[in-house]
Amino acid sequence: MDIKVKDVSKVYGAGDNRVVALNHVHMDIREGEFISIMGPSGSGKSTLLHIISGLDAPTSGQVLYGARDIHNGSDKEMSAFRRRKIGFIFQRFHLLPVLSARENIIMPLLLDRQQPDEEYLREVTGLLGLNDRLTHLPHELSGGQQQRVAIARALIAKPDIIFADEPTGNLDSGSGGEVMKMLCNIQGKLNKTLVVITHDPRIAEMAARRFAIVDGVLLSAEAGT
Ligand code: ADP
Ligand code: MG
Repeated sequence: MDIKVKDVSKVYGAGDNRVVALNHVHMDIREGEFISIMGPSGSGKSTLLHIISGLDAPTSGQVLYGARDIHNGSDKEMSAFRRRKIGFIFQRFHLLPVLSARENIIMPLLLDRQQPDEEYLREVTGLLGLNDRLTHLPHELSGGQQQRVAIARALIAKPDIIFADEPTGNLDSGSGGEVMKMLCNIQGKLNKTLVVITHDPRIAEMAARRFAIVDGVLLSAEAGT
């Protein structure tokens, strides 16, 4: 499914507190593509990701998944759509401390009253190098391993699209690089659409197509420049 962002703006507050977080953003994301969006802190990256993924609504403009306007439906429809089609990876791993890695990974399915596909689970945890860590609790894992558990959790419902908001922001550069390599490999192998937000140019460069965002204005950044 292709995604089209059409003339999206987001304004927070009013009067002296008015902030234009996104300023007439246009963007096309094709199915199976790996895109990065780079920008400094406060430039509108998270706001854009939240709006593209349906977590937040734009002030004006549209986000289309195929022909469907994702902001034009009930909250219930929208959250069902997100649960089945979209995987999220955050800077903070948001693992539940009392659950094992495996339990954390399958939690989204249990909440949706589904059982895991064990073969797929093994494939994903294998690609993430987690097969000998599945019974560990989060505090028994390194930061990089915890983020890999969070990636497996994002993939478990077999979403078409993965959004990652500064996925290496809490990791040192070594384990951050390793996590990104695995994510990149999975994107190609499982043919997912991947949108990664970062302020790290080395991570942005891993994507096939790159954008930059400054003060809410999105610009295309040609590969190799
Ligand atoms: P980034 O993720 O690039 O650091 P954000 O998208 O979080 O940036 O924020 C963009 C701008 O919008 C910032 O100026 C921020 O202060 C503002 N902003 C974000 N969320 C809110 C909110 N809920 N209310 C008011 N202002 C917000
Ligand atoms: Mg942010």
